[in-house]
Amino acid sequence: MKVVRTIAELRAIERDRPRGARIGFVPTMGALHEGHVALMRAARADSDDVVASVFVNPAQFNDPSDLAKYPRQEARDAEMARAAGIDTLFVPAVEEMYPDDLATSLTIGGPALGFEGDYRPGHFNGVAIVCLKLFSIVLPTVAYFGQKDAQQVAVLRQLVRDTNLPLEVRVHPTIRAASGLALSSRNARLSPEEMTRALAIPRALMAGLAAHVRGADPVAVARPLLDGLDVEYLAIAHFHGEPTLVVAARAGITRLIDNVPLNHPALAGLPVAL
Ligand code: AMP
Repeated sequence: MKVVRTIAELRAIERDRPRGARIGFVPTMGALHEGHVALMRAARADSDDVVASVFVNPAQFNDPSDLAKYPRQEARDAEMARAAGIDTLFVPAVEEMYPDDLATSLTIGGPALGFEGDYRPGHFNGVAIVCLKLFSIVLPTVAYFGQKDAQQVAVLRQLVRDTNLPLEVRVHPTIRAASGLALSSRNARLSPEEMTRALAIPRALMAGLAAHVRGADPVAVARPLLDGLDVEYLAIAHFHGEPTLVVAARAGITRLIDNVPLNHPALAGLPVAL
């Protein structure tokens, strides 16, 4: 695996590729876990050449302390990416992605509105600009994203459609700990007691899904299960028409999000019984 830090180095790799090579791409913010690794393995399985990126994107953080606290562990990330079969790991500095004279920004509506869009103002504009830039730099055939961030998947599908990018956005099911908690780089911030309380999230999603299956109201059934957490939203979102039970809640100061697409529940990776 090559670790490259500049766009020029990536362009040199691209020039040497055979024409028609299928390029898989997995963008991440690092602090890699088995969720990221699953995306990398999926990309490895269907691509000739696999690029992953590690870039903690300042543009998508609406909270400066969240950006400052974001875990960074490049050596460990590089080892995990190598073990997952990545060919090229792109680790740009902030100045490489956002030179001082950058004068373009993006505003994305549609699926970016509501939910995360309400609680993290500007977040999806930051996700959109960094992904558009990364797509232009990496030139992937397929880009892989996790169902864990369901609204982000919808936003990126919208971006790719609206800007006619010649790539496919593919979604991978949410990867969870044995406890049911969705893996997240932010879980490391949870105390053992907060971790226990956070397990209410997958339980609430399971209960909501079961309610949907029997024709009851998923939100009404799931809501009481979240009583020990500080809930920002629990609702049914319609991302490109797909009804998805979405939740954002805090355990202590740590903000967690999770979801289950009600008509495609396998994507949520929930255990059969919790
Ligand atoms: P991040 O590093 O948090 O920006 O995540 C990079 C990619 O990994 C995004 O497409 C996420 O949706 C995906 N991802 C993060 N956590 C999980 C998880 N538990 N299961 C599946 N995909 C995930």
